[in-house]
Order: sequence, then structure tokens, then C-alpha cells
Amino acid sequence: MSVSEQAIKSIVIVGGGTAGWMTAAAMAKHFGNMPVEITLVESSQLGTIGVGEATIPTLRRFYAKLGLTDIDVIKATNATCKLGIEFKDWHTKSSSFIHPFGLFGQPANNVAFHHYWLKLREKGDITSLAEYSLGVSLAQNNKFCLPAPKPSSPLAIFDWALHFDAGLFANLMRDNALANGAKTIDAKICDVKIDSTNGNISAITLEDGQSISADLFIDCSGFKGLLIEEALNTGYEDWSHWLLCDRAVAVQSESDSIPIPRTISTAHQAGWQWKIPLQTRTGNGHVYCSQFIDKQQATETLLANIAGKTLHEPREFSFTPGRRQKAWNKNCIAIGLASGFLEPLESTSIALIETAIERLLLTFDKPSYNQQQVERFNEVSKMEYERVRDFIILHYKANQRTDSEFWQICRDMQLPSELEHKMHLFKTQGTLERYPWEIFGPDSWLAIYHGFNYLPDVYDKKVDNMPLEEIQKGLFQMRNSIKKSVKAVPEHQEFLQRFGGYQPKPSTA
Ligand SMILES: Cc1cc2nc3c(=O)[nH]c(=O)nc-3n(C[C@H](O)[C@H](O)[C@H](O)COP(=O)(O)OP(=O)(O)OC[C@H]3O[C@@H](n4cnc5c(N)ncnc54)[C@H](O)[C@@H]3O)c2cc1C
Repeated sequence: MSVSEQAIKSIVIVGGGTAGWMTAAAMAKHFGNMPVEITLVESSQLGTIGVGEATIPTLRRFYAKLGLTDIDVIKATNATCKLGIEFKDWHTKSSSFIHPFGLFGQPANNVAFHHYWLKLREKGDITSLAEYSLGVSLAQNNKFCLPAPKPSSPLAIFDWALHFDAGLFANLMRDNALANGAKTIDAKICDVKIDSTNGNISAITLEDGQSISADLFIDCSGFKGLLIEEALNTGYEDWSHWLLCDRAVAVQSESDSIPIPRTISTAHQAGWQWKIPLQTRTGNGHVYCSQFIDKQQATETLLANIAGKTLHEPREFSFTPGRRQKAWNKNCIAIGLASGFLEPLESTSIALIETAIERLLLTFDKPSYNQQQVERFNEVSKMEYERVRDFIILHYKANQRTDSEFWQICRDMQLPSELEHKMHLFKTQGTLERYPWEIFGPDSWLAIYHGFNYLPDVYDKKVDNMPLEEIQKGLFQMRNSIKKSVKAVPEHQEFLQRFGGYQPKPSTA
């Protein structure tokens, strides 16, 4: 081992929320045959944030690596299936579109599908891009089945994620971690000791005076960043000039309908409201900008837009959008809310937990690390956060609402340069540029551009090599093929009843 290589014999994970237990489960499995002790310290007295119910498909890959099947997780967490997000009133009031986890149309002659669609549009064809997405069509029709393992064409490709109970999911991760040898301590940490020789964290002190030392600490302590910020003063990059929302109020309610396979995000005067259907209840929340409305107004708006009976008093959250300047500082790595926060508009927080864990596991092919790996981890974490940030900003920037100052300011905002470049390329050439470390691929960007009617001025002229009638016929066949496929798919609640343990209430059966 070279001098700069730091050996890891013990890891302490601070925090037992979604981030902490996901990290513990993945680490316990990864280090299973290596002499590395993993201990998670959490405080049941302090509790967890308890929200975070909508996910993206990467989550399914994460738990599969832990040996869990989709059906295991659906049953254990009261989950429903998610094919995408429906955005209501975002572009203009009364508008609606779906961002699916899937593709639009079929490319031909090395030209992306949307260029063919754009040409027909120019010729007066008014069919929506959404008609070329199986994911959108299934979501709109409340249908669900597992995607074909080997899809016959791009038209059959769609992906899916889950809406789940966050507490139950953390329990599942906990069971998995403990089964693989992780240890847990329920206690409040009241002090963090720094080694004055190198600035590393040497130990944490619990309320009863017990001191726990480790080679590596993973900070999953939530927004405050007990280790990464309060002890190591790492610093936070504030992005509130781009993402104006800084508060949320959330409440669970009784289900008011059959569970649908999509999240609903409805824009309001100074923010937006989520509706996340679980098997047994619905999660609701209003994310808003406190410069424009106060807590009371935000809560009234939330409650006025919930159909089912609420199950508890609304809970409030306050946050600063942004990221920790270094995700890995000294011998401490921040994961989850301790590493930063972007509003849950595209359900990316848990996804950023997974990707951080994935990167760590790649770093630890042996139980040690060096400074070069730390720097690479920080560089990639930064890029990944920025790319998600830009995708979220696009939703605000492209709005055409005229009903409030909030939406006007969002529309007028100056963009981060990479986003500006990306939007410019799409507008002027129809090019969907993909940057490294982007979680959302070109079809996701296309869904949002199209949903906001932000469309290119031109289409790729290579499209003109194909006779117009042939393009018309091809696109007609694609729409028909999708319609036929949707007809053959069962209802989402049927899928849940059959495989996921869903029991409909007599009134909704
Ligand atoms: C309003 C809102 C809505 C959200 N919706 C979504 C969503 O739909 N999808 C999504 O992907 N994400 C969402 N998120 C983000 C998601 O909730 C978090 O990413 C996820 O829950 C992970 O949280 P965490 O584990 O980092 O922190 P927490 O859940 O806050 O856990 C922190 C842990 O640290 C422990 N701890 C803290 N201090 C101490 C101490 N002194 N001693 C011992 N233990 C301590 C706590 O007890 C707890 O166990 C949302 C967030 C908010 C605010």
C-alpha cells in the first residue's frame, strides 16, 4: 500500500434515515468478506425527516443489487408503480403534460425521432409528441405491466419506479443491513472530536459519554450536516437565486381514488403541490417560496387541493437549495440531505443518495482510499448535482404563466451557463445535448421542452431525404402500435392486487 493510501477497518454512519440505512445496506453487502466493521448511529429521539416517497427507476437497480425484487419492495412498503410525473398548470394554467420514464418514437436513418415529428408539425400535423410514448400512454390510462425484458422496438421501451412509504423503505434497508452484519446504536451524538494533527474526525461522543472512533465517517444526519458542516465547516453553495422555493408543508390523506401510476405535480401561485399515491394513503405537499406567500397561505392552498380526509396536522420544512461544497471532506463523506438539497420536483434526492453510494462502492474495490479518489468523488458529485439542478430550473424558466410575480421572476431569471447553452442548442438546432453525469437523458429533456412548448425553430434537414408520405405513414403506425399495446395492458390496480398485496377499499374496487 502506498503512503497516501488510507486503510479502512471501521466505518461509522451517522443517521438512520433513508440515506443512512441505504448506505449501511450497500456497505454491509459490499464489505461482506472484508474485515471492515460498519456501525450506524441514529437517534430515535430525534427521528427522521419522514418524507421522500417518489423515486425514479434507478432505485430499482439499487435494491436489486441488495437481492430484493420489485415485488418484495412493493409489498413491504405499500408501494404503487410510477411511470412518470404529470405536470399540471406548469406551462400555463389548465395545461398538462407527462414526463415519462421512457422514450418518444423511433429514430430512423440516424436522425432522432423528434425531427420527423417536427417536420410533420410544420406541415400542420397536430398530433402531440405524447402519442409516441408508451410510458405516457400507459400513465394516462392508469395501466401497468412490467416492461418486456427484450423490447421488440424502441416503441416498447419504458421504465418505471415506485411511490413508497419512506419509513417502511428505511426499515427494509435496515433489515438488509443488519442481516449483512452492520451494527446499530440508538443514541444521540453530542460531540464530534477532531484530530488536530490532520483535521480528520477521530471520534463521535454519545450522550452517555461513550466515544466511538472510526477510520471513515459517513454523514447521513440530514439537513444540518452534523459532521460535514457543524464539525468540519465544509461550506454550502446556495442556489436559491435559481431555485426560489425554500419551504414545504406536507400532509398525508386518505386515498380519494384508485392508486394511479404517476405522481401529480400541480403548479400554484408561488410554488407547486405534489400528490403521491400509495396503496393505503396519499402523500401531499406544497413546495413554495416564502418571499411570496406565508405558511398559512401555503397550508390553505395545500388543504384546499386535497380530496381525501387528512390524517394528521400538516408538517413544515424549511430548506436552502444547494450543495455541500465538498461531498467528501477529510475522512467524512456526506450522503443524503447532509450533502445538499434540491426540491423534490423530479424526485431526485433518493436518486442522488444511490449514485453517491454507487460511486463509493466503486472507490472501495479494496478497503482503502487515497486523495485522488476523494477529489474525483467530489468532482463527479458536483457535476451530478449541477446537472439535476439545471433540469429542475428548466421547469421554472420555461413557464408561461402570467398570474403572479413568482412565475414572472422565474421566467426572467438568468440561467447557469451550461443550461443556457443546452437550451440554445435545442432551440436553434433541435439537438438534445447530453452532458456527462446527467441522471436525466435526452428523452426526459424532450418531455419537458415539449410540455412547455419550447420547441426548435428548425428540424434536421436529413429528414427531407425521406418522402413525406413515408414519414406520415411511419408515424401513423407508431401511434397505432402504442395504442394497441396499451389496450393489452391491465389496469395498474389489477397489477397491484395480483402482485403487490393491494386490497382496494370496497368503494374503490
Ligand atoms: C418536503 C420534502 C419532500 C421530499 N420528497 C422527496 C421525494 O418525493 N423523493 C425523493 O427522492 N426525495 C424527497 N425528499 C428528500 C428525502 O426526504 C431525503 O433525501 C431522504 O429522506 C433522506 O434523508 P436523510 O436520511 O438524508 O435525512 P433524515 O431523514 O433527516 O435522517 C437524519 C438521521 O440523522 C439522525 N441524527 C441527526 N442528528 C443526530 C444526532 N445528533 N445524533 C444521532 N443521530 C442524529 C436522525 O435521527 C436521523 O436518523 C424530500 C424532502 C423534503 C424536505
